Amino acid sequence: MNRTFLSASAATAIVLLAAIGHAQARTAQGIDPKVEARAESLLQQMTLDEKLGQLSQLFWYKGIPDDRVAKGELGSYLFITDPHEINRLQHVAVEQSRLHIPLLIGFDVIHGFRTIFPVPIATAASWDLQLNRDIQSAAAAEASAVGINWAFAPMVDIARDPRWGRIVEGAGEDPYLGSKMAAARVDGFQGPRAGAPHHILACAKHFAGYGAAVGGRDYDASYLSDTELENVYLPPFHAAVNAGVACIMSAYMDLNDVPASGNRWLLHDVLRDRWHFNGFVVSDAWAVYNLTAHGFASDQEDAARRALLAGVNMDMGSDSYLQYVPKLIAEKKVTVKDVDDLVLPLLRAKIELGLFEHPYIDETKVDAVLHDPAHKALAETAAERSAVLLRNAGNQLPLSKHVKSIALIGPLADAHKELMGSWSFGGDAKEVVSILDGLRAKLGPEVQINYAKGTSIKRDLEPALNSDTLPAPTPTDTDIDAAVSAAKISDQVILVLGENDDMSGEYASRAFLTLPGKQQQLLEAVAATGKPITLVLISGRPLDITWASTHIPAILQAWFPGVQGGTAIANLLFGDANPSGKLPITWPRNVGQLPLYYDRNLTQVHEDSPKYASYYWDEPQFPLYRFGYGLSYSAFTFSNLKLSSATMEANGIDATIDVKNTSTRTGDEVVQLYVHQRFGSASRPTRELKGFTRIGLAPGETKNVTLHLSLDDLSFWSASTHHRATEASTYDVWVGDSSSATEHAQFDITTTTATKE
Ligand code: BGC
Repeated sequence: MNRTFLSASAATAIVLLAAIGHAQARTAQGIDPKVEARAESLLQQMTLDEKLGQLSQLFWYKGIPDDRVAKGELGSYLFITDPHEINRLQHVAVEQSRLHIPLLIGFDVIHGFRTIFPVPIATAASWDLQLNRDIQSAAAAEASAVGINWAFAPMVDIARDPRWGRIVEGAGEDPYLGSKMAAARVDGFQGPRAGAPHHILACAKHFAGYGAAVGGRDYDASYLSDTELENVYLPPFHAAVNAGVACIMSAYMDLNDVPASGNRWLLHDVLRDRWHFNGFVVSDAWAVYNLTAHGFASDQEDAARRALLAGVNMDMGSDSYLQYVPKLIAEKKVTVKDVDDLVLPLLRAKIELGLFEHPYIDETKVDAVLHDPAHKALAETAAERSAVLLRNAGNQLPLSKHVKSIALIGPLADAHKELMGSWSFGGDAKEVVSILDGLRAKLGPEVQINYAKGTSIKRDLEPALNSDTLPAPTPTDTDIDAAVSAAKISDQVILVLGENDDMSGEYASRAFLTLPGKQQQLLEAVAATGKPITLVLISGRPLDITWASTHIPAILQAWFPGVQGGTAIANLLFGDANPSGKLPITWPRNVGQLPLYYDRNLTQVHEDSPKYASYYWDEPQFPLYRFGYGLSYSAFTFSNLKLSSATMEANGIDATIDVKNTSTRTGDEVVQLYVHQRFGSASRPTRELKGFTRIGLAPGETKNVTLHLSLDDLSFWSASTHHRATEASTYDVWVGDSSSATEHAQFDITTTTATKE
C-alpha cells in the first residue's frame, strides 16, 4: 500500500495496528498490550533525538534553559522539589514539545519527603512490614503532591560491614529480611498498581553488590563470588522485581572488575532474561560518564556505547546519549533498534503512571498533604517501633516520671537536624522534636532537667572530594566537667551519644566504629559519678560500645529517629511505649571483627568447645549483640514448637509455637524462624532467617503463632551444581526471639526440586 494515499488518521491507525502486533509478542512478560501499543505508536513517531532525549535525565538547577524540554529532548529531571516549577516544566513539556510527552521527576525520597521518618536501617529494625509500607506510602503521597513521580528508593543493598556509611539506607545484612523489606517498600511507594493516585514509581538500587565495597570504603570495588551474589546480594533485587518495581538503578562500582553501569551480564542476562524485568534501568549519577574513570571505557563516546548496550535506559546526569549515540549509529556501533528497546520501557512507565492524562498537580493542595498530622503520628510510631533496647540491667528502664531531676547530657541531646539522618533534604529541622524537647514535654516543669552538651562532634576529615588538603582534626573543646557536675546534682542521667547525620550515608565510611570525638571520655567521666545512667545512641550503624555494654546498665539504640524522635524516645524511656525493635545487623565488638554476620558456615572447629572459645587470641569471635536481638519491658517465653509434618512436600510446612507474655506489661515480640540444612551439594550457613512475624501480646496472654516455610524459602544456588534448587536433606528449625533461638525441631526433604525463576 502506498502511504502517500493515506489520510493522517488512517496512517496512525496502521501504525497502531502494527504496534499491537509487536506488542503481543511481549505480553509474556506481563506487559499490558494497550500500554505497549500506545508506547509503540508514540515511538514510531519519534525522531532519533527525541528518543535519545527520553533516555536522558539532568540535574535541575534554577535558571536551566527550557529548550531541551520544549524540543522534547529531555525525559526527566532530578532534584527539583518546587511544585510551581515542576508544574511549569510539565506545561512546557506537554504544550511545547512536538509529541507532548511529560517528564519524569525523580528525587531521593529515602525515608520521607517533608515528614522525615526514621532512617531505613531503623525501620528495618521494626521487622514490621506494614509499617514500612505505610511509611513509603506517606512519603509517596507527600512527594507526589509536589509533582515528584519517581523515588530513587528503596536501597536494597545488603550491607555486612558497618564501616560502609550507606548501611544506614538499607535493611541490613540479611537477604530474607532484606527481600521482605524490599517488597514492602516497593509496595508502599507504588501502591496497588502503577499509576495509583498519591503513589510514585520506586527504584531499587544500587544494582548490584554496592554494599560489599572492599574495606567498607564507599565506591570501592566489590568482589563477590557467585555464591555470595546469588544467595545474599541479588535476592532483595529479585524480590523488588517480583513486587513490580518500575525501576532499577545501576551501581557505581566495579563488580568483579566490570563496572555495574556497563555490566551487560547484570543488566541484561540477570535482570531482563532471567528475572523478566520489564521496567527501566537508570544509571547512578554520572555513572555513565565515570565508566572512563574506572579504566573501562576508552572515552565518553565509548562509555555511552557500553552503557547503552549493557541496558541502561536512562543516563542520570552525564547526558552522554544525545551527544554520542547519533554518531555511534552512523558508525554502526549501535542500532536504532538498540535505542528503541531502551525507550519503550520509559514510555510505558509514563503511560502507566497516568502522566499523559494528569501531568499537573494541584498546587493549592500541597500544603495540606505535606503537613498531614497522620504522617507525624506515623513518624512517632515508627521511631518507637524501630528503637532497639540493647541492655536493661536491673530493669533500670522504664524510668519513673516522678523523678525529681534528670541530667540530660551529650552532643546529640538537644540535636534537631541531626536526628533526621542523611537524605533529609525536604525535611525542616525546626519541626524536629529533640530529645530535650521530648523530655520537657513529657515531664513538665516539676522535673528539673539539667542539660549539658558535654562535648561537640564533627567528622575528623571532611570529604576529600570537597578539599584538596585534608584539614587536621580539631575537635571542639569539651565541657566534660560541666556535664559531670550536672550528673552529680541529678537523680538520673540520660546520655545521648553517637554520630551526626553526616557521619552515615553516601561518602561517609569510617575506619573506626568508636564514639566520635571525646564522647567515650565523656561517658566514662559521667559513669564515674556512680549515678544511674541510661545511654541513648543516635547513629546509622552499630558503634563500638563494648565498654558501655558492661558499665552502663541501660542502652537504647535509637538510630536517626526522624522528626518525632524526641517524643518517641521520651515515650520509650518513661514506659509510655515498650521497646520492640530487633537488630537487622550483627553488632560487632570492634572494627577488627569485620565483616561479621550471623549466617556463616560451620568450620572444622567445634565452636561450642571452650577450647575453641575464639578464632582470635585478642578478642572473642562472637559479636556484642546478635542479629535479631532486642529487649522489651515485657518478658516472653517460647514453647511447644511443632511442625505440621516430618517431611516437607510441595505445599511446604507450617511451624507453630506458643508465645507467652509472662510480664505485666503489654508488648510486641518478633517471632523469628531460622533454618539450617545439615548436608547437601554445598555447605550451608549455621542458621538462616526464613520466617518472622511481629505480634502484640497483653499481659499473661499466649498466642499460637504459625510460620509457613515453602520449598522456595529453602532454595539456594550451589557452587557444585551451578543451579538453584531445594535439596533433599535434613533441616533444623529454630524459633525464638533472635538468631540465638533455642526451640528446635527438624524435618526432611526427600527429593531435590529445581527452582524456577
Ligand atoms: C547516589 C544515589 C542517588 C543519586 C541521586 C548518587 O550519588 O549514589 O543513591 O539516588 O546520587 O541523588
